[in-house]
Amino acid sequence: MSTTTQDYYEILGVKKDASVDEIKKAYRRLARKHHPDLNPGDKGAEKKFKEINEAYEVLSDSKKRAEYDQFGKAEFETGPGFEGFRTRGFDFGFGGTEDIFSDLFRNLRQEDVPLKGSDLVTSLDISLEEAYKGATKSLSLTKEVVCKTCTGSGAESSQICSHCKGIGSLKQSRGVFRMSHACPSCKGSGKVITRACKTCRGKGLGMAAETIKVKIPPGAETGSRIKLKGMGGAGTKGGPPGDLYIELAVTQHPLFKREGNNIYVEVPVTFVEAVLGGKIQVPTLDGPVTMTLPSETDSGKKFRLKGKGIPNRKTGIKGDEFAVIKIMVPRTINAKTKEALHEIEKAYKGEQRS
Ligand SMILES: [Zn+2]
Ligand SMILES: [Zn+2]
Repeated sequence: MSTTTQDYYEILGVKKDASVDEIKKAYRRLARKHHPDLNPGDKGAEKKFKEINEAYEVLSDSKKRAEYDQFGKAEFETGPGFEGFRTRGFDFGFGGTEDIFSDLFRNLRQEDVPLKGSDLVTSLDISLEEAYKGATKSLSLTKEVVCKTCTGSGAESSQICSHCKGIGSLKQSRGVFRMSHACPSCKGSGKVITRACKTCRGKGLGMAAETIKVKIPPGAETGSRIKLKGMGGAGTKGGPPGDLYIELAVTQHPLFKREGNNIYVEVPVTFVEAVLGGKIQVPTLDGPVTMTLPSETDSGKKFRLKGKGIPNRKTGIKGDEFAVIKIMVPRTINAKTKEALHEIEKAYKGEQRS
């Protein structure tokens, strides 16, 4: 019996003179949208789905369509029922529409096969100090996790596969050979889903935020990748999880510039320190150290502090630090200092630009 009083063309949302292709397209789109397995428990969708199929059954057949156009729906009231659609487990009992369904259900079927979870890539900023010493950092990310409602099966309820009687494989005799292959109906699981899990819509996966700890090795640099095996997205239907890749970026340091595993730091000194020499403090990644500045040091001169750089990630051998001297001009000078500077100027007049 007809499930609707609506016009078949209206149901599919096509014009009366729509081509076979247009009808097919409209049907595909609507069937995907309203399929009961994709809308578990939704009675409205189920009804709509039946209507769509009924309309398509008629309009996709040129003979039936011509009769429908001429006589209206009455002709089809006793036509083939659509009971087939009630049978879950993708075992649909109608021939003509199968090709259209094959790709719709390929998607659903694929999800029955265990699939590896997705590999994830995320980035993480670390400080130069963390790159120097290594660190353990927390990282929050949202990723696929196994659905808690169905523990990943995707099923709210399932039944033993009628095709293989729950064995999951089928035996075949070929001459003297007996072969066994995975049951195509249940993909070897021995079970078919009769009702999809409402939480995950049958996918067996959900999304969840997770905080993980990441160990940063000493010597990490911008572009370093850390692979955390099995920490990516959860696998589908018992498949293994994917991997998580963390791409590191070392943030700019206010004092140190990094070049490879060497670091550079600008050390301001006074004019007097530069001329007379003396002990000066130089910052390093291990804290400040005292360095002896020789007398008559020019601005821009580099002093090497051996082994105060970043360790090599593989060998652990540290690079060097270079202290770059910069003579600073005093900004606040009183009359007395000014006087003294004039004295100094007189003392080496004629020498400074020789
Ligand atoms: Zn679920
Ligand atoms: Zn089976």
